[in-house]
This record gives sequence, structure tokens and C-alpha cells, in this order.
Amino acid sequence: MPAVAPDDFYEILGVSRNASEDEIKKAYLRLARELHPDANRDDPSSEERFKVVNLAYETLRDPERRRQYDMFGSSPRGAGGGADPFGGFGAGFGDLFDAFFGAGGGPGGGQRTRSGPRKGEDAEATVTIEFAGAVFGVQHELTVRLPQTCATCSGTGARPGTTPIRCSVCQGAGEVRKVRQSILGQMVTASPCTRCGGTGEEITSPCPDCRGEGRRREEHSLVVDVPAGVDDGATLRLPGRGAGGLRGGPPGDLYVHLRVKPHPTFMRQGPQLHAALHVAMTQAALGATVSFETLDGTEELEIPAGSQGGKEIRLRGRGVPNLGGRGRGDLVVILVVDTPDDLSKEQEDLIRRFAESRGEVVAAPEGGLMSKLRGAFK
Ligand SMILES: [Zn+2]
Ligand SMILES: [Zn+2]
Repeated sequence: MPAVAPDDFYEILGVSRNASEDEIKKAYLRLARELHPDANRDDPSSEERFKVVNLAYETLRDPERRRQYDMFGSSPRGAGGGADPFGGFGAGFGDLFDAFFGAGGGPGGGQRTRSGPRKGEDAEATVTIEFAGAVFGVQHELTVRLPQTCATCSGTGARPGTTPIRCSVCQGAGEVRKVRQSILGQMVTASPCTRCGGTGEEITSPCPDCRGEGRRREEHSLVVDVPAGVDDGATLRLPGRGAGGLRGGPPGDLYVHLRVKPHPTFMRQGPQLHAALHVAMTQAALGATVSFETLDGTEELEIPAGSQGGKEIRLRGRGVPNLGGRGRGDLVVILVVDTPDDLSKEQEDLIRRFAESRGEVVAAPEGGLMSKLRGAFK
């Protein structure tokens, strides 16, 4: 289900497991230069690889995320995320790049045209569901606040009826080149055009609803269909529910991390459920029919005479459904035999007589001869 392959992040960055923060950063910068889209125009897979490198770096650069990754391994997106749907990885490819290379447009300063359709960023959110919801599946309503494509201008940023014109500063290139003379010869530097923000287009009359941004940050609710059988830590991918695209680009995806609340009675182990059932000493000895609350309702359980504590009663098909498959696991009920510790005088006498009839040696009664003797020597 998670779209991101849980490859080894250290391997992706080519560093050892005990690499320092500095080594990790250096390895990242080297890979980022190598995989930068400007340097790999003919190789569309490099952008994908670059995203994976970014994800690895985002995880390992943060000591807390790195610690979690070292402990739990493959939860690349889950580690920190949560409240902020743009936390960490969600920041998007271009923004991350700018954050590391400043406004210079990246090493090499290749031409970078952003005027085409742009896919919206992926986003993430965390939801907590009840134990039974994870077992049987549940529809969970989730509210996210994400940039959505402006309906008024369809993401162009231009007031309806007007069209953007070619940027007068960069002539549509999206960047400005400067030629300088230096001791090494002629140097060409390129930086994104500040007039058009790198789009190559100038909006003469901005859309009144998004003020020319093409998107608006909006709160919206969606229903997450949680399938039966999910476990704590699973991630669902909701295609097209991330941030809206720009200039006709498709929206990004939304990754929903699931947290499952623990249950007071049931312990889960994959598809199997475990629960303890307390019975009285007499019920274990003589047998009984006991009501037990399963997730599917009340069941009458037969406790055979002479049952020992720890005995397992297996209820077939009362466990957790196999995710996306057929069948359910079992519910294993483990007997716990309770020894009474609140006997009345009369009950104690009964048990003493019972022990006597079986020839079992038990402690002398409190206040009896032995305890009086012990008291005398204190
Ligand atoms: Zn608009
Ligand atoms: Zn421009």
C-alpha cells in the first residue's frame, strides 16, 4: 500500500549507518547535483530518484526521525509528519531544492522553465481509529487544509477572460542570465526571474479569488475508506487528494498514516486476537458455561471440568480479517483461574474440609494453635 519503497535510506545516500550529520549532508548535496533535473533533461527517471534521495535526506537529517527510522526501519513518511500536512517531505521538489541552493536556481544554473502544467505536491496526514474500526474497516472523516486549484481561473492566476502575456523581463525564459568577466573568463549566472516568479508569464490582471496565485489554501473534508484488517502504522495512499496542480497540472496524492487505538480486552498479533478470560476456581474444577464478549458479540464459552489456568480456547474466524484477502484469523481466549482471597469463615471451613479429604497439607488457620505458638516467641 505505501507508494514509497522502503529501501535503505543509508544505501540511497551512500553513507554508513553511523555517518555524521555533516557526512549525510555532503552525500545529499553531491547526489542532488548529480540528479538535478536540469542536468538530466533526457532522463525523466532522475526526478523520481531525486525525490527518493530527498526523502532519505529529510529523514536522516533530523535526529529524531533518524532515530525512529533506525528503530522501526520502513516507515519513511510516518516518522515525523502528522499535524502539518506539509511537514517534511510534503514541501515539494522545487522548494526543497531552493532551500539548499538559495535563489541561484541550482548548481550549473541550467534553464528552468516552469510555465507548463505543474503537478500539486503530495501531502500527508495522520488519523487515529478505534480498534474495531481497524478490524472491520471504517469510514473516517478527515479535514485537511491544502492549496487547492482556484476554480475561478483554473490555476492560471489570471482573471477570467484575460490571458497572461510573455514576461517582459525574461522574455518568457523564466530566468535571467547575467554575463560577468572574471579572472577565469566569462561567467554566466542564471537566476529565476523575479518579475514572473520563474513562470515566464506575466499576469496583467490577477484572478480576484486567488490574487494571482492560482491556488487557494482551503479546508476541506474527505472520507477515508479504511479497509478491514489494517494494522497500526499502515499508510493509505489517496491519489489526487493532495495539493491542487497549477496551470492544468494534476493534483498530488495524499498519504494517510493510520494509528490504531489499543483495546482494553484484545491484543492483536497479525490476524490473530488474544484475550484473557477469568473464571473462578470452582468453574475451572467443575466446568461451566461462561459469557464472553467478542468483537462480533456475546459468545457462550464451554469451560470443560478440570480446566487448568493457561488453557487456550480457540474461536475460529473471530479474529482479524486478512487485509484485502479472504478469511479471518482466530480469537484465542486464554483461561485465567482466579483464586478467591476474600473467603468468609464458613467458606474457609469448607475448603479446609475439602483439602483434608484430598490429603493436601495447607497452612494452619490464622488464630489457630500454630500461630498462637509463633506469637509466644515474638
Ligand atoms: Zn484564481
Ligand atoms: Zn520573467
